[in-house]
Amino acid sequence: MAFIDSHCHLDFTEFDAERAQLIKQCQQQGIEKLIVPGVTLAQSQALIAFAAQHTNVGIAAGLHPYFLAQYQHNHLMTLTEFAEQHRSQLIAIGECGIDRSIDDLALQTQIFEHHIVLANQLELPLIVHHRQSHDLIAQAFKRCKPKFGGVIHAFSGSMQQAQYYIKHGFKLGVGGVITYPRAQKTRSVVAALAAEHLVLETDSPSMPLAGFQGQVNTPLQLPLIFAQLCELKQLKEQEKGIFEQQLYESCSALFRI
Ligand SMILES: [Zn+2]
Repeated sequence: MAFIDSHCHLDFTEFDAERAQLIKQCQQQGIEKLIVPGVTLAQSQALIAFAAQHTNVGIAAGLHPYFLAQYQHNHLMTLTEFAEQHRSQLIAIGECGIDRSIDDLALQTQIFEHHIVLANQLELPLIVHHRQSHDLIAQAFKRCKPKFGGVIHAFSGSMQQAQYYIKHGFKLGVGGVITYPRAQKTRSVVAALAAEHLVLETDSPSMPLAGFQGQVNTPLQLPLIFAQLCELKQLKEQEKGIFEQQLYESCSALFRI
């Protein structure tokens, strides 16, 4: 088995006690590569040292809307300088995006569009966070078109929305949400799409799978997400190996890893 977890926050404190052990277990269990997004300026900067410690980790730099309270006006400029300086160590810009549950949508939009410009300038894909904000993200894309695609992290939405992102060069992040029967719409959309449009992700330590609520999520759960996706696609046993390979290639092609 060979997988890439395209989205896990392995640098978060939830993993402090078991990080080295966990990364070793991932390698043993075929979760070959782990992509860790940036969420704040200081944390993005700290990821350089984090990636140097762990050979199978890919990193991105970005300002996540969840951390908007920590945002200061010089952060965008400093993020740009930092990303330019460390371009060769970054595989993406993000995670960035627009979240309707957080105030100041105008500021979020401004920050998000800055990330798109930066990604275009550095020829990198984007890792995009959304929550009830497909319309706002589409408006941002209209003003500022991403040139190197990316991932719509934790995609949930309609087939029409999925096709819109695919048309703009994006892949859809498929995670633990598909293990919940109530996620009917997302399940049927991702089940209908080819592997080349999807990437697997856990969003660890968040987004526990059905049956694991209340526990810290880890990249070791990725094979369970894959198994659920195979079931939703009603794949035959002999088709699963090819599908797994296609998902791996989908992710490695996007991030050039
Ligand atoms: Zn995330």
